[in-house]
Amino acid sequence: MLNDPADRLQKTLILGHFKGVNPPITDSATYAFDSGPAMTDCFEGKSENAFLYSRHWNPTNLALSTALAAMENTGSAWVTSSGMAAITSALLQICNSGDHIVSSMTTYGGTYAFLKNYLPKFNIDASFVDITDLDAVRAAIKPTTKIIYTESITNPLLQVSDIPSLAEIANQNGLKLLVDNTFTPMIINPFELGAQLTLYSMTKFINGKNDCVAGAICGSEEFINELIDVTTGTCMLLGPVLDPIRAAGIHKNLFTLHIRMKQHSHNAAFLAKKMFEYGLDVTYPGLSNHPQHELMKKIMNPEYGFGGLLTIDMGTEEKASELMVKMQNSGVGYIAVSLGYFKTLFSNSSTSTSSEVPGELQDKMGLTKGLIRFSIGLDQDIEATWNTIQSNLREIS
Ligand code: PLP
Repeated sequence: MLNDPADRLQKTLILGHFKGVNPPITDSATYAFDSGPAMTDCFEGKSENAFLYSRHWNPTNLALSTALAAMENTGSAWVTSSGMAAITSALLQICNSGDHIVSSMTTYGGTYAFLKNYLPKFNIDASFVDITDLDAVRAAIKPTTKIIYTESITNPLLQVSDIPSLAEIANQNGLKLLVDNTFTPMIINPFELGAQLTLYSMTKFINGKNDCVAGAICGSEEFINELIDVTTGTCMLLGPVLDPIRAAGIHKNLFTLHIRMKQHSHNAAFLAKKMFEYGLDVTYPGLSNHPQHELMKKIMNPEYGFGGLLTIDMGTEEKASELMVKMQNSGVGYIAVSLGYFKTLFSNSSTSTSSEVPGELQDKMGLTKGLIRFSIGLDQDIEATWNTIQSNLREIS
């Protein structure tokens, strides 16, 4: 299939030096030039295939960025030292003092904290809306608004963003739509649906090994060049560059992403169905009772399923904790934040990854104290996993 992200990715593979099947790792901070004028040309962006300094570009980071840009069809990408580095650099590059952002009320807690508590230092403010309510998005736009910000599938409530409609609203108002696609690589392509930038925490599914923290900004070549402009670029000047040794590891893991996403989705869909039949209050975009199930079907790449995340509401924090302890002790997975790992991870969102969000706002968005977010792993025998979870559930007091 020509328009498949995994096919596009495969086409970026090239033999390295000495015909090594993986690209070489360039662990140099600086690069030599043949002359003073050659260095000046590079500083002025006039040299092809020349590297100046690794905070700007590094050949190993470029190889990973090229693969990501092919996967996302964005033309360009730049890899960062964390997902938060990608999000904060993109926002700071676009916004000036006095600007305003319309953001989904439900986002990763760190993103919420940055928008709410940190950006006001620079006189940039944000309004938080229910991103599934397009009228609320339109109503929140001010003359100073520069950005609509959302996550393809929001963390942790798993609302599906209507990216094509949000892109239309952004275009009508001269705004940029930024989408954090951390939960759904391969499944959703925000750029093809009309977003200007696709942001990733590569710490999660893209790397899939939980052995490092990393991020990516995928967008037009023009925007990426602005980010690394030596005099005004946020990434060049704040320096959130990814270490090339880590980039090399992530690059190799990227080529199994399509297989992993299929298995994560398969296992999550299986468990969501079983949990629903058991009578649990389960949220999964693949279930027909999910409020945006039909929208999800319209915007997703069906090859890769509905994703690896689901939530259940156990009613109270105590019951949520009791179940998590039983699941950890019986080998279902780990009580841990983060997601996209090959082993199942679960956490109580309101007290962990969304703890930065004040209680009143958690209530307003519908984030309950008993909510457990699961990132379903790559279990071969998911039926056996369900049997274990079912026994754990039966033991809950
Ligand atoms: N975006 C989402 C949706 C996340 O869940 C997270 C982390 O949990 C981040 C961004 C931040 O990524 P990182 O921890 O790599 O900085």
